[in-house]
Amino acid sequence: MDNCIFCKIVKGEIPSRKLYEDEQVVAFYDVAPAAPVHVLVIPKEHILESAREITGAYGALIAHIYEVIAKLADELGLTGGYRVVTNAGPDAGQTVMHLHFHLLGGKLGPMA
Ligand code: 5GP
Ligand code: ZN
Repeated sequence: MDNCIFCKIVKGEIPSRKLYEDEQVVAFYDVAPAAPVHVLVIPKEHILESAREITGAYGALIAHIYEVIAKLADELGLTGGYRVVTNAGPDAGQTVMHLHFHLLGGKLGPMA
């Protein structure tokens, strides 16, 4: 989609620190980390704007994203656990309208 930052990252038009990529998803470090480890995992296709639109039709993709997150958490040494956040809509502070999941690790504070 034109004018979508994450679509541009997928296409390589905006540089990013990529950790993982396959046919369906890409994972890269957040440019403004909110935790010691802050990675974004996104579907390559601009299929949904936010988690609010997820239906059963996307079940396999969403499960795959969570599998990738768990694999990355292992590789990043997050043995004590991690947090997955997805902001949906303005009240949650969503700024990029391309479905994405934040993988947060390291010392985390309480949830807002
Ligand atoms: P949201 O607030 O929509 O849930 O999350 C969007 C995230 O994208 C933010 O944490 C923000 O720091 C990150 N972000 C925005 N622009 C870029 C960029 O150009 N590169 C990277 N790596 N992250 C970005
Ligand atoms: Zn997009």
